[in-house]
Amino acid sequence: MEYVSTRGLAPRLRFRDVLMTGLARDGGLYVPADWPELSGAATAGFAGRPYGDVAFDVIAPFVDGEIPDDALRDMIRAAYATFANPAVAPLRELAPDRYLLELFHGPTLAFKDVAMQLLARMMDHVLAARGTRMTVVGATSGDTGAAAIEAFRDRVNVDVFILFPENRVSDFQRRQMTTTGADNVHPIAVKGTFDDCQAIVKAIFGNAEFRDAYAVSGVNSINFARIVGQIVYYFTAAAALGAPDRAVSFTVPTGNFGDIYAGYAAKRMGLPIAELVIATNVNDILARTLATGRYDLRDVTPTTSPSMDIQISSNFERILFEAYDRDAAAIRGLMQGLAETGAFDIAPHALAAIRADFAAGRADETSVASAIAGTYAATGFLPDPHTGVALAVAGDFAEPGVPMVTLSTAHAGKFPAAVTAATGGIAPILPAGFAEILTRTEAFATLAADRRAVEAYIAERSRVSAAESLTR
Ligand SMILES: *Cc1c(COP(=O)(O)O)cnc(C)c1O
Repeated sequence: MEYVSTRGLAPRLRFRDVLMTGLARDGGLYVPADWPELSGAATAGFAGRPYGDVAFDVIAPFVDGEIPDDALRDMIRAAYATFANPAVAPLRELAPDRYLLELFHGPTLAFKDVAMQLLARMMDHVLAARGTRMTVVGATSGDTGAAAIEAFRDRVNVDVFILFPENRVSDFQRRQMTTTGADNVHPIAVKGTFDDCQAIVKAIFGNAEFRDAYAVSGVNSINFARIVGQIVYYFTAAAALGAPDRAVSFTVPTGNFGDIYAGYAAKRMGLPIAELVIATNVNDILARTLATGRYDLRDVTPTTSPSMDIQISSNFERILFEAYDRDAAAIRGLMQGLAETGAFDIAPHALAAIRADFAAGRADETSVASAIAGTYAATGFLPDPHTGVALAVAGDFAEPGVPMVTLSTAHAGKFPAAVTAATGGIAPILPAGFAEILTRTEAFATLAADRRAVEAYIAERSRVSAAESLTR
């Protein structure tokens, strides 16, 4: 199995190099050259099987022998042993034909753990096989950084540096990053905004000399290996609800488009999905794009669902690539337009293709709050605000006789203020063991919003030596 870049100018790679490279050298995103398919019989056989078994069957065609089967099985087992619920991604029935897919039972209580726990083990495995180390550098507004730190802590061959905006992540999120006590984990509070953090990380990636000297790599959802880890739960959920004999719909709280793109991948692999619904908060660029055919950037409005407060939805490029029948030159044109003018128009045939696979809806803060309160009143389940966005949208797309599965991407306990306000005083309760995060000792650096200050900090602490990198 080979992977191609959406911009067509980077070399074709196999799984291990896609895993270690992340963004393609031409600025594009890697996608499989051909989609592997799973038979209806295989999908039917997933019902009732342990999550790890299904994960192996879904993931193995993408890895295609680049990691030995036994090692892959061990990594999957270890990754999902960190989840508090043995089902990993359990389904909860909310009402007839309405379900919630609970993706928040991992060590940081958000769905990012599902892919990150596996990604970290895969990367560490490849580094060990190559006898090298790597420096992971990332920016976070909360969930991604915590998931990355938790997944990479104590991995022998990786040092991880996560930049977050000082005083702009929740106490709980900061403490998830700063209380691990692990030697290879380096949280950095930046005196600035999330955009400053992201700009610094981009500048570091753009500094080829530094990037090569310290073997800098990233772990955001442009890495196809992260997508692979998220395809699995679409299969387990649909199989539990009667696929392949019955089609199932999904509503996905969407920011960077990674999670719902994994649903599209499941569909391309043969899973009968009736509707894939993109749910956005008031930062609704994707809902506007589906309605009008024009992708145009606007300012980000802060909401109670911060992981969806996004304007550049990176993985959408992968869907554009498919909608344009894999015409990489067309994608280069769109992305150049975006860089130059902050907008592009999607050609009618491509827009029709996107609309054939996706629907989209938007929820403002009032409807998110009433979805949280209403779900709690009707079912006793307390959703977090990201899940609330999706629940508010899902109702508009439910069809009689077709199960609608809403993805629940975080535990309400991560967002106590918003959830308590929405319900008029019902405070979410953190699962056992998590409250102690609030009393553990914190360790982190505070740096100016300055690329050179951050580079100097990394250079001093990364275990990748410049000498070693020359022999790679
Ligand atoms: C990251 C995140 C999302 C958005 O997922 P994308 O893959 O970026 O679309 C939704 N909810 C939560 C809680 C998240 O952390």
